[in-house]
This record gives sequence, C-alpha cells and structure tokens, in this order.
Amino acid sequence: KQLGKDSFQLFTPQIGEALRLRLALERDLRAALQADDQLTLAYQPQYDAQRRIRGFEALARWRHPQRGWVSPAEFIPVAESSGLIVELGLATLALLRRDLDSWRASGLSCPLVAVNLSWEQCRKPQHRERFLQQLKTLQLGPADIEFELTESADFEDIDKPDSFVFTLQGLGYGLAIDDFGTGYSSLAYLRRIRCRKLKIDRLFVHGLSANPESRTLVESMVRVAHAMRMLVVAEGVELPDDEATLVAMGCDLMQGFGFCRPVPADGMPELLRPAAA
Ligand code: C2E
Ligand code: CA
Ligand code: CA
Ligand code: CA
Repeated sequence: KQLGKDSFQLFTPQIGEALRLRLALERDLRAALQADDQLTLAYQPQYDAQRRIRGFEALARWRHPQRGWVSPAEFIPVAESSGLIVELGLATLALLRRDLDSWRASGLSCPLVAVNLSWEQCRKPQHRERFLQQLKTLQLGPADIEFELTESADFEDIDKPDSFVFTLQGLGYGLAIDDFGTGYSSLAYLRRIRCRKLKIDRLFVHGLSANPESRTLVESMVRVAHAMRMLVVAEGVELPDDEATLVAMGCDLMQGFGFCRPVPADGMPELLRPAAA
C-alpha cells in the first residue's frame, strides 16, 4: 500500500483470498438481513455483588446457512465497514422487541437490556433519524433499553452539541462506555458526556486478582467512575477470585462466563422467572 496506488505487487494471493472472503461475508450478511431466520439475539446477564441479575447485554448472533454460526467479532467489523451496521442495528431492535413480547406473553418481565451501538450508526443524520423512529415504532423506551458505545477516536464528535449521544440522553436513555481502557478516549470525555455506566474491558478484568498491575488499573477506574457518579460494570469475569476482588473494590455489576454465558432467547424464561421465595 505504501508503494502507492499504481503498485500491485503487494496484492498477493493471500490478500486476494481475504478480500474475496470479506466480500462474500458482506453479500451473505446482506441476504441475512432480508431473511428472517438467520439473525437472533443472545442475552448475557449482569450481576450485582449479591449475585442478583440486574440487567442483560443483547449480543447479535448469525447462523449462516452454509457456514453455521459466525462470530460477531467477524461479522460486526464487516457490517461496520460496509455500512450494513445501520440495517443490522435496526434489525437488532426489532429482534429485541419480538423477544420482549414473547417473554411478556408468558408473564415474565425483563430488566434493562443493554444494546451495542456502533459509531457508524450515529454519524449521519438520516441514520440517526431512522434509529430514533425505530425506537419509537417499537416502543422501546429508556426503561427497556440502554446503549453501549465503544470509546473511539470519534468521541471527538461529542463536542458537537447535536451529538447523537446527547439526543439519546435527552430522551432519557442511559449510556455505557464499552471496552473502557482499550480505546482512545481521554478522561475529559468522561466528564463531558456523563454516562451512566463504565464497562471495563475483560483485558483488564481477567486474572486481575493475581495481577497487581491490573488490580491497580481497575481500582483506579472504579474510583474515577464513582467519583463521577457512574456505575462500574466489569466484563469477562470468569474466575471466583476475580469476582471476589471486584466486589471488594466496589465494582457495581459483573458479567462473564464465570456467572453465565450469553443465552439464546428461548433460554431466557428460566433466568427471568422470579426466584422462589
Ligand atoms: P463486547 O460488546 O465487548 O461484548 C462482550 C463479548 O465478550 C461478547 O462476545 C461476549 O460473549 C464475550 N464474553 C462475555 N463474557 C465473557 C467471558 O467471561 N470470557 C470471554 N472470553 N468472553 C466473554 P460476542 O458476543 O462474540 O461479541 C463480540 C463483540 O461484537 C461485542 O463485544 C460487540 O462489540 C460486538 N457486537 C455484538 N453484538 C453486537 C450488536 O448487536 N451490535 C453491535 N454494534 N456490535 C455488536
Ligand atoms: Ca458491549
Ligand atoms: Ca464492544
Ligand atoms: Ca469488550
């Protein structure tokens, strides 16, 4: 690439193959958005220090007709770079509505669901408009959902008073900064956007009880968040020692395989059923 656009010697067979796969994935994702049986949501519970479920994160799942399950780590970046994330974001809200309705029909109510929002969905006014319209049409209000946004270089956009973040907050929706510590945002942004929650990435969480450096880092993140009246969510909690350490640090919510893996919609009634007295 650095040789300039007239040079093609770096266009090796491997790069050609990667590009071909990416385009095929994009084409198939486009088809999946038209089909009604490939995309679903899985839900991962978030627990408080007493191990009570306080909310869920909705995670997109794609069952490809030939390839089987494709990881979001693979298809979300493709969706983002192709612009399909806009449609996927709208589809996600519709799936959530459908799931909430089916649980409600069984007499179950669901605590707050966190939905991942990509910056690509927030950039263009017409995309923001459609997203807001979808929330309204589906009647997904601030008591039903909140949004998780990964900190990114685009947090600069926060400066603009018409920023989508402020629009959502103005409507009462809560926001969580996702993957905190792995991105670009500075502490100044934290102060400016006043999010409800800070999610500490599992990079810092996994094994923290045995790692003095991680422990110091997470401890400072908890302190900063609390000083700004934000709740702290630790993701990727797998080990009992890490859970105990997080609770001792005052971490508010925990999410991870150590508690529960993401569950498909049909596994949710079991989690939503009120615990027997
Ligand atoms: P994320 O937002 O950081 O979501 C957490 C990811 O960590 C999920 O992976 C979850 O299954 C996984 N995870 C949870 N607990 C543990 C644990 O204890 N150990 C380990 N090793 N992993 C754990 P998943 O579902 O594969 O999603 C990957 C990423 O894809 C998400 O990362 C998120 O950035 C993105 N994503 C998923 N669904 C959506 C969506 O609907 N919209 C958008 N824009 N992005 C999504
Ligand atoms: Ca997330
Ligand atoms: Ca994320
Ligand atoms: Ca993460």
